[in-house]
Amino acid sequence: MTIKAFVIGHPIAHSRSPLIHGTWLAEHGIDGTYEAIDVAPADLPTFFERLRSGEFSGGNVTIPHKEAVFALCDAVDPLARTIGAVNTLVVRDGKVFGRNTDYLGFLGNLDAAAPGWSDGPNDAVVIGAGGAARAVLVALRRRNGGKVHVLNRTLANAQALVEEIEGPFEAHGFDDFAGLAAHTGLVVNTSAIGMHGTRFDWLDMGLLPKSCLVTDIVYTPLITPLLADARAHGLQTVDGLGMLLHQAVPGFAAWFGVEPQVTPNLRARVEATLDH
Ligand code: NAP
Repeated sequence: MTIKAFVIGHPIAHSRSPLIHGTWLAEHGIDGTYEAIDVAPADLPTFFERLRSGEFSGGNVTIPHKEAVFALCDAVDPLARTIGAVNTLVVRDGKVFGRNTDYLGFLGNLDAAAPGWSDGPNDAVVIGAGGAARAVLVALRRRNGGKVHVLNRTLANAQALVEEIEGPFEAHGFDDFAGLAAHTGLVVNTSAIGMHGTRFDWLDMGLLPKSCLVTDIVYTPLITPLLADARAHGLQTVDGLGMLLHQAVPGFAAWFGVEPQVTPNLRARVEATLDH
């Protein structure tokens, strides 16, 4: 029987998930489908009834439904609650289970592109305190041995975040970067800066140790001004496209029963759809 999965959002045409999962379905010769379905917010409860009928094995959830589905799921993974968003649904025996795989995507990307990145205690600087920062903090809480300094334009938002998500976290304004840089082993940008050519005017890469790893979860453009700057200073960098690809792995495995690989072929196919 054909196994069916989906991504729901509103709008949904921009989603790259059908390309990712479609590539894996073809690579593994699986009798399955993965379709993009536009579901308006008012139609979400009806869509969940359809899910409980067993038509689908599961699927992804994107904007604007990532929070609204909490109330509709039969159970939600505690880490998805901490992150505050569900991006993956798994249907079993007429019940819908919600998860968040963004933190696994973040870890999978760094593990693949910078093996050993979390060996030894490393203090990290995380820029931004929005939704994506929550997944990154949950990831770093698991794997990074050192302190995590959360730097945000609006200090109050960083303070609220570190109070809510328990861990070795400290909130800062951007001005604190210069004082922290010399002891930083990892810089992660989770803020919207980097999109549409925007850049940080306060971030002096020259203050970071040469061993520092710099990663940006913004992937449009693929090489953000932050990454270009880091490279110009001889620092190792990891772009954000891998996070998007790796976050898809656990969902595919749960729905189709095969753990897929993030291959150069998959990356090239998705990269070809990005604006350069
Ligand atoms: P969000 O919840 O809207 O948070 C935006 C963050 O950016 C906030 O910390 C905000 O600071 C900061 N910010 C916005 N404009 C700024 C400016 N002009 N100067 C300084 N700071 C600014 O967004 P999000 O959901 O966390 O997403 C952030 C980015 O991550 C997006 O580009 C998204 O595409 C990307 N992302 C990538 C992946 C992936 O798989 N690679 C996954 C998720 C998200 P304030 O608190 O001061 O407003």
